[in-house]
Amino acid sequence: MSIIDQAYDSKVFRKTGHQLVDQIADHLERTISRGKEKVYPHYDPEMLFKSWNNGDLLSQDAPVADFFQLVMDMSVDHHHFADMGHQVTPTAMVSVLSEMVSAYTNCGMGVYEVGPLPVVLEKWTINFMGSTFGLPETEGVLTSGGTLGNLTALLAARQAMIAEDVWNEGLGEKRYGFMISEEAHYSVERAVKIMGLGEAGLIKVPVNDQFQMDTSHLLECYNEAIDAGIQVLGVIGSSCSTATGSFDDLDAIASFCAEHKLWFHVDAAHGGAAIFSDQYKHLVKGIERADSIIIDFHKMLLTPSLATAVLFKQAASSYNTFNPKAQYLWSDDQQREWYNLANRTFECTKPMLSVRIYSLLHAHGPDLWAEYVERQFDLGRTFGEILDAEPDFDLPHQPECNLVCFRYRPNHLSESELDRLNVIIRKEILKEGRFYIVQTTLQNQTYLRVSLMNPFTTAEDLEGLLTAVRGAGSKALVTVTN
Ligand SMILES: *Cc1c(COP(=O)(O)O)cnc(C)c1O
Repeated sequence: MSIIDQAYDSKVFRKTGHQLVDQIADHLERTISRGKEKVYPHYDPEMLFKSWNNGDLLSQDAPVADFFQLVMDMSVDHHHFADMGHQVTPTAMVSVLSEMVSAYTNCGMGVYEVGPLPVVLEKWTINFMGSTFGLPETEGVLTSGGTLGNLTALLAARQAMIAEDVWNEGLGEKRYGFMISEEAHYSVERAVKIMGLGEAGLIKVPVNDQFQMDTSHLLECYNEAIDAGIQVLGVIGSSCSTATGSFDDLDAIASFCAEHKLWFHVDAAHGGAAIFSDQYKHLVKGIERADSIIIDFHKMLLTPSLATAVLFKQAASSYNTFNPKAQYLWSDDQQREWYNLANRTFECTKPMLSVRIYSLLHAHGPDLWAEYVERQFDLGRTFGEILDAEPDFDLPHQPECNLVCFRYRPNHLSESELDRLNVIIRKEILKEGRFYIVQTTLQNQTYLRVSLMNPFTTAEDLEGLLTAVRGAGSKALVTVTN
């Protein structure tokens, strides 16, 4: 058989495919039944690269099933109750299957003709999300991640807010900026800089003691920018911030934007999912007043990475994002060709994002998301109560969702010793591999941070984490105080 024929051999595919489903199901069963002690495989990167290079891990003639197994065994296990690190979702299983269909059909999504159903599903998904958020006239796109999503939305804002044709003529002599919270995700900062607005284009609004944008400073920051010769284009609210999961007061920002005729963008990458929960939707109250919203399905909506929706209040914004000003005048909806997505999306070839999202909605409906959000947000708040009751732990904010910062504080240490102690604690925890957590900096101090993304994590597991932190902490104390 020729090598090409081998690559398309349906018999071999059937056999390895069935075997792979068994491998994944076995892995999932073992993980969920808590038969796996370690969540994090700790390897030194240089050593690992060397062993791979030497062929120590996988021989050339090993079956491909061995390769798949290695990938699963040598990655952080997001389906494990002790995965509390980054905001990465434990993918729901039907969306895992959907990836195989997408990989096989491999439609580019830029033009309707190459993938009629997935393109229609994209519009359906955008409409569904728009009506969920209270934007009935919405138009928008699915894109590869919140970072590109924020850039797409801010480009549209620039098109809408500047009278000149910046797309063709460039920025010229004028200076522009966006107002953002000090705690905004760094992708917002990147978007502003990619647009060439520079450091001065980032007008930072201070946060309050809960790390939410302090909206009482909006006017003062706005006036300072105007005095410095900067035309303010818009304000970006975070739902929620990344480090502490703090939700900005969207109604206050919306009113400020309405009064000063500014674009109102909401970065709801993580916390936008609250909209699906009757218990937690109040956290995003005011989001229906936004000109643009982004939400990541791969954060709190159980979908494989990446899958982000960019939603615009006014359909025209989506058509103008990557186009000269003249197109603003489109009046005939037919001419807009909503189904040729490449006109409105950053990507040219784009993965079939709608398929991974829709597979979940089809199988479970949005109630899956509601239950998941409630379980995880409840757990974050419970962890806050646990930490509050422990005198040897600091809790710098009251958790609003499933993102929680904390640190171990045996009472006799200085601030810099505390920073060092908590850095060492995290390293030790990762080495042990029984928990996976991350760290962050808040007001120049180092904190441990958890993203409680796993639906099988319990309050007892969080108590277990604190025991592990104390254990690592008491060992590290000797190093820190010497
Ligand atoms: C994760 C995150 C982003 C970036 O999204 P990616 O999908 O990782 O590119 C942007 N904003 C916020 C608030 C986030 O939490």
